[in-house]
Amino acid sequence: MKFGGTSVANVERIRNVAAHVKREVDAEHEVAVVVSAMAGKTNELVAWCKEAGSHFDNAEYDAVVASGELVTAGLLALVLKDIGLNARSWQGWQIPLLTDDAHGSARVTKVDGSQLGECLRRGEIAVVAGFQGLHGPTNRVTTLGRGGSDTSAVALAAAIGADRCDIYTDVDGVYTTDPRVVPKARRLDKVSFEEMLEMASLGAKVLQVRSVEVAMVHKVRLYVRSSFDDPADPKLGTLICDEEDILEQQIVTGIAFSRDEAQITLREVADKPGVAAAIFGPLAEANINVDMIIQVVSEDSTTTDITFTVPHADFARAKEIIEAGRDAIGYARLNGAEDVVKISAIGVGMRSHSGVAARAFKALAAKGINIRAITTSEIKFSMLIDEAYTELAVRTLHSLYGLDARP
Ligand code: ADP
Ligand code: ASP
Ligand code: MG
Repeated sequence: MKFGGTSVANVERIRNVAAHVKREVDAEHEVAVVVSAMAGKTNELVAWCKEAGSHFDNAEYDAVVASGELVTAGLLALVLKDIGLNARSWQGWQIPLLTDDAHGSARVTKVDGSQLGECLRRGEIAVVAGFQGLHGPTNRVTTLGRGGSDTSAVALAAAIGADRCDIYTDVDGVYTTDPRVVPKARRLDKVSFEEMLEMASLGAKVLQVRSVEVAMVHKVRLYVRSSFDDPADPKLGTLICDEEDILEQQIVTGIAFSRDEAQITLREVADKPGVAAAIFGPLAEANINVDMIIQVVSEDSTTTDITFTVPHADFARAKEIIEAGRDAIGYARLNGAEDVVKISAIGVGMRSHSGVAARAFKALAAKGINIRAITTSEIKFSMLIDEAYTELAVRTLHSLYGLDARP
């Protein structure tokens, strides 16, 4: 059972979590619980790190931001004892949950579930601090990237061979799109691993991308549900499962959007071999992830325009790198835009249907929304548009593909 920030926002909410745990224990399940920090806590810790100095040290950043989960793990263990259950808290290093040394967004390398498994068999509830791990060789605490408690939970579930991994959050499942943006969004009963992976990586932050990857590889049954349900009478959530287990397939399953994009356009780039390498090589070396790329075929085959997108956080750095390589690349002007959003439609049905994206282009055009860039792959397509049109575009696509909840 994993509980996110809103679900453990204060001691009263933690008591509610304990009631959910008690229900499962009363049903004679052995239970391990993973908790996030209280809502807002990690943001506060991150802000303190920034305030503390310009000499940014990722290992110390992790030492600070991992602390939020320690508090909630201890508190939940206390509350569980308070209602007469046998429980203890676990920090990441005590398990241990081992990671690489990429501080701030470390990857899980190995989880030893043996000690924890023994405690569970003795009837002790394990309350594990999410989001954190240990890099063995340096003996330092790491964190798994924002939203990383989901990944802690799935990795632990795989390590102890859990029957299920239930992700309790503030919505009662995975929706056709973010229910905060589209009130007509519908809860999905089932979503395939592939679709969930795309939805999460294209902006639906209900699950961290890596948690879905780990679940897919280790065949963990993932169930997303609400901690706001009555603990005595919980409602349905969303099962993340294999594609074969979903009978009724829609062409489009969900719409995701990401504001975490910035656009760079190079004008009048020399149209000659080696230019793309001169642009994208240095960006790759600087670990900047380029997403969409568009190169226009030039009319006179001397110069062309190239547009691409980078993560918002890397925008300034990417511009500096391109400007530093201006002589090697050879371009007339660099234009950038930060007020853009990437809207994506996802569905395994796209494999067997043509013209799915074309309908979207037409629908957005009818609303006067200009598309700056497009990318497609087997089960999704994405469009870059002006950020101001986010809600309108998401709602338009949601209706277009028949995803709106019936009144
Ligand atoms: P937690 O703190 O429990 O980890 P998060 O805030 O990380 O919760 O994730 C839950 C939020 O994800 C929801 O409140 C919702 O606004 C957002 N969200 C975005 N896309 C979706 C979607 N397709 N389905 C459900 N929730 C979504
Ligand atoms: N507390 C961490 C965060 O806010 C991890 C998590 O909530 O999953 O990113
Ligand atoms: Mg989360």
